[in-house]
Amino acid sequence: MDNLYSLTANELLALMDKRSVRPEDIIESVCSRAQSVDGKVKGYLSIDREGALARAAAAGSRAAQGKLRGIPVAIKDNICIEGELTTCASKILRGFRPPYNATVIEKLKAEGAVVLGRANMDEFAFGSSCENSSYFPTLNPWDTSRIPGGSSGGSAAVVAADEAVMALGSDTGGSIRQPAALCGVVGMKPTYGRVSRYGLIAFASSLDQIGPLTKDVRDSALLLGVIAGYDEKDSTSVNIPVPDYLSCLTGDIRGMKIGIPKEYFVDGMDKEVDAAVKEAIALLKGKGAQVSEVSLPHTEYAVAVYYILATAEASSNLARFDGVQFGHRCEDPQNILDMYERTRGEGFGAEAKRRIILGTYVLSSGYYDAYYLKAQKVRALIKDDFDRVFKAGLDCILTPTSPTPAFRVGERSSDPLSMYLSDIFTISVNLAGVPAISVPCGFTKSGLPIGMQLIGDFFREGKILRAAHAYECYTDWHKRSPIL
Ligand code: GLN
Repeated sequence: MDNLYSLTANELLALMDKRSVRPEDIIESVCSRAQSVDGKVKGYLSIDREGALARAAAAGSRAAQGKLRGIPVAIKDNICIEGELTTCASKILRGFRPPYNATVIEKLKAEGAVVLGRANMDEFAFGSSCENSSYFPTLNPWDTSRIPGGSSGGSAAVVAADEAVMALGSDTGGSIRQPAALCGVVGMKPTYGRVSRYGLIAFASSLDQIGPLTKDVRDSALLLGVIAGYDEKDSTSVNIPVPDYLSCLTGDIRGMKIGIPKEYFVDGMDKEVDAAVKEAIALLKGKGAQVSEVSLPHTEYAVAVYYILATAEASSNLARFDGVQFGHRCEDPQNILDMYERTRGEGFGAEAKRRIILGTYVLSSGYYDAYYLKAQKVRALIKDDFDRVFKAGLDCILTPTSPTPAFRVGERSSDPLSMYLSDIFTISVNLAGVPAISVPCGFTKSGLPIGMQLIGDFFREGKILRAAHAYECYTDWHKRSPIL
């Protein structure tokens, strides 16, 4: 079989069960695919072909154990892999090799998954286009003059381009869902606390979650089931049982109550995105979903609140990169202050500096009450909006994932505010802490993917997976692949 790289994890596992395919065959196929297309996509920072082959052979000999045996997974460059470079695509972490694995990496390994390589990202996950990487921008596999979204742009692009079967990303304000939508793949941000953040290099600790990027919803359920669960090493992980997400996929939507928030269908949204999402709503209604309009009245404050809280947390989290313990240190420092200043000046890119300055400002004594504290209060109101509609009996909320399809490389890089608006539909979900998934729901006339977002109540990932999977059963957007 020479097209193994194009299959989903669930399809590959079935082939391995029949013994018609070995894990090494999958690694070979995916690696040669990456070799032939990654020059165009630039999704990977590195691929460990030899190591992956050795690990795959070991997975094969372990008598077909493990839910992800032999499946190659790409890892966003902010998730620690023991002994391997992990740099957050930043100069300041060049050369950093963590002495331990993130919990999600341990969990992948325990189920036989094979870590294939490091996926590119915006530096420290600051961005929506993957152009803020200190290495190079990743390009959209559907049109390489466009961005793949971000910050998990590398993870989304390598899955879309069949250079990985699955990938892990992280989502602080939309960084899994927005690139998933722009690249035509499935991306899920779990409930805050569902997946351990131990070993995820922190951006904004109260918002960050690791989650899956996959070719379809079934694979998303599979991968989430592997990485989810309580971890004593992460005090914000929650100790409640992990359901069997695969068994939530019933293949039909009948009786599910879906809310459409009126605040998410606004002027200025791309016409083709608007039309595709409305068509998806009509389809689900036709298949027996109970659709109603709802209101999430504090939505309009989400972007402002997010850029206060996320930058505040980032400025504090990034204080540890001072040239002492990790990564880069400037040449020949004259004294300690000189070392801090030059190390950080050389090591951080423009967006990281912007956020450190903004975050330090909103936390400073004169402005803390006016900005940080006020934003925390509005954050609580945003969460209350979701609580209210879910308490009234909704199963999920359906919205567009991104207001536009993939934009051109360079189009927004000189205007941070227009870049910040890319996440207008995803940010509230992180502020509230609820789970959400983005699934492909159409294409523009020029062939760019469009995604829709399904948002669930706390720890009800099973419900949004069920709705997303049902939608997939009725459509075949997720089956299209870019021509590279
Ligand atoms: N684009 C948003 C930002 O730049 C979200 C990033 C993320 O989720 N990591 O902050």
